[in-house]
Amino acid sequence: MLHKTINKSEFRKLVDLLMENEEVIAPKQIGSDIKGKAIHQYLPVSTFDEIDLDYEITQYSAKTYFLPYCENLSTCTFDDDDWTQNISYRLQPRILLGLHACDINALLKLDKVMTRDSFPSPYYVSRRKNTFIVGIDHEPCEGGFCQAVGADVVTHGFDLFLTDLGDRYFVAINSDRGFNVLSRVRIKNITQADTKAYLEARQALAPVFETPYMHNLPNLLDIEFESPVWEKWGAKCLSCGSCAMVCPTCYCYGVGERISMDCSSSYKEKQLYSCNLLDFASVSGGHNFRAKKETRLKYRYYHQHRGFSETYEEPLCVGCNRCGRVCLAGINPPEIIKDLQLEGIR
Ligand code: SF4
Ligand code: SF4
Repeated sequence: MLHKTINKSEFRKLVDLLMENEEVIAPKQIGSDIKGKAIHQYLPVSTFDEIDLDYEITQYSAKTYFLPYCENLSTCTFDDDDWTQNISYRLQPRILLGLHACDINALLKLDKVMTRDSFPSPYYVSRRKNTFIVGIDHEPCEGGFCQAVGADVVTHGFDLFLTDLGDRYFVAINSDRGFNVLSRVRIKNITQADTKAYLEARQALAPVFETPYMHNLPNLLDIEFESPVWEKWGAKCLSCGSCAMVCPTCYCYGVGERISMDCSSSYKEKQLYSCNLLDFASVSGGHNFRAKKETRLKYRYYHQHRGFSETYEEPLCVGCNRCGRVCLAGINPPEIIKDLQLEGIR
């Protein structure tokens, strides 16, 4: 990895240049909550002034630009004795600016499932390959626990990564695309003073992160499979699925085929789904393997912190706590995990 510095005025110039030809998605304030706290989303922007790089967290994750909530997988037209299928992948380049380390780590986890397993998704791969990612360091967000799941630092999965050093950014360059883009403006080689300032900035951030104790979680989950903790929290669950929709790593989906009334055409549609929804485990014949909401809630946690760890040796969760923030029933990972740990030593 190469490191350079770029003055903030030059960085602004760079973003302006990029906006001339490409779609730029960046954190943008869309309003405030009832306590006056800013609400941000990753949205298309057309001027640098629309971007707020000092944002705390976005309500929705950047997942939506790789796994849209709803997408058309293919269309078919039927003739008397033949049919034609059309599939198109998103190839237009796009720039995703201002992602925090946890959201880039979330993409790296999705990559493991969507690009490498037996059935890679060409829809995801085309979006990932055509997206230029610029990350940025940040103060921890309220309620987040990224450090506890090892997602507060990122070393790959981006093109450029910025650390704010006051009048300039310390830039980690992780791809030839990143290097080429930077050649359009003035950058500087790093000095000893830059390196010192960068390390100090990182050191200042580390202890500020909240770190709920998550050590040994896969084993704890195995032991507490029948714990009353699941009933306690499951009783509150509204089975709305919002947690999975805002989560940067939940990727469950359903596929449906819609056929026109005259049977001349059809389209196949993919919709993201949530394991908390009532019919998630319903099968033909009407049986529902997870009819109880506590069972569905439990399995979401087991996938995030147990099943994924078994397959990929790391949890799926990146600790952003978007699920906890969006949940109208107040269900959130730090409190559930704390309850399980207390249950284990009771
Ligand atoms: S945990 Fe919360 S957000 Fe998720 S389905 Fe239940 S009520 Fe909805
Ligand atoms: S499970 Fe919750 S805390 Fe973990 S990555 Fe998903 S939204 Fe963030």
